[in-house]
Amino acid sequence: MSDSTNTISFIREIYQSQDFIPLHEPRFIGNEKKYLLDAIDSTFVSSVGAYVDRFEEMMQGITKTKKTVAVVNGTSGIQVALRLVGVKSGDEVLTQALTFVATANAISYLGAKPVFIDVDLDTMGLSPNAVQSFLEEYGELRENGCYNKQTGNKIAACLPMHTFGFPVHISELTKICNEWNIPVVEDAAESLGSEFNGQPTGSFGEVGVFSFNGNKIVTSGGGGAIVTNNENLGLKAKYLTTTAKQPHAYEYVHDELGYNFRMPNLNAALACAQLENLNLFLGKKRELAKKYEEFFIGEDVKFRVELPGTIANYWLMCVELEDRKARDLFLKETNEAKVMTRPIWELMFRLPMYQDCLKDKQVNAKFLVDRIVNIPSSVK
Ligand SMILES: *Cc1c(COP(=O)(O)O)cnc(C)c1O
Repeated sequence: MSDSTNTISFIREIYQSQDFIPLHEPRFIGNEKKYLLDAIDSTFVSSVGAYVDRFEEMMQGITKTKKTVAVVNGTSGIQVALRLVGVKSGDEVLTQALTFVATANAISYLGAKPVFIDVDLDTMGLSPNAVQSFLEEYGELRENGCYNKQTGNKIAACLPMHTFGFPVHISELTKICNEWNIPVVEDAAESLGSEFNGQPTGSFGEVGVFSFNGNKIVTSGGGGAIVTNNENLGLKAKYLTTTAKQPHAYEYVHDELGYNFRMPNLNAALACAQLENLNLFLGKKRELAKKYEEFFIGEDVKFRVELPGTIANYWLMCVELEDRKARDLFLKETNEAKVMTRPIWELMFRLPMYQDCLKDKQVNAKFLVDRIVNIPSSVK
């Protein structure tokens, strides 16, 4: 039987609090108020402004990419990113069922269909081996891309997600996808600051997308960023998210169906101040992870640490319980003690709108969903 008494007192000691301890809270300890007031004083509060430009430049530096486009949220960023690589209505997109619903929703907004491929046990993200097996069984390379020979649909993209900031085996995955002529879009919403072999997540695929929602490692209130090393795709991203408007001094020329998805300058002001502290937050999260790692050695739950060759941003930290029963007890005891913990997401194919989607056996996803629990991870 699991007994979470030790865990509860350890977490209370870390946060020096007897009150409710949330899973993840933002920290505003830098230039947030200053930049927000400055944005208001400038009168540029909407989708054009100096902070939007600065935010985009900062993100290019952090992610080592050539072009960033700031958007209203991560979900719309993924939607646009998929469209940029050519995903159309009726196409299939390979992704994981073990993810936040936004990943699958972004595919559906384009009229495309998610195909759920299993995750790896070590990364909790899309498994290159599982993708390879699926493609060997169902994939067919044609002149203009890869098709699913059973459904006849185009497999137009692959959308891995770096779960809780732990990088997937991205090199292997992009290699397989290249062989099958399938563009990779990274859902890097949770992995700002994470690296794989020294390279930032989000910069491996054709396009990567980050989220700056209030619960992420840094926040703009609400917001997202599309990053790419392909300058043409970058320009196209800006164009599509700005109502597909052709640059002109005064005339309205919109020559495609676009979106109003640009990040307002007010949100960018908050984001700039937060990004200035990204390294500080990353360092503090590593310290916290280290403490958890040492503490959980003596407990009957396993604390998840980054894999060799990777750097995790430790956005949401997590433990692995022995089985579903132990998980449920741990969740009950901690939450009743007002120390917030939460199970990993329900698998996408168990949600009503995705229950008829194609999927493989999902052995690892089912194993993890029964055992993984997030624990309080805020920067102290
Ligand atoms: C947060 C998140 C998103 C979406 O971000 P929003 O900015 O909230 O739209 C997408 N995918 C994953 C995996 C996320 O965790």
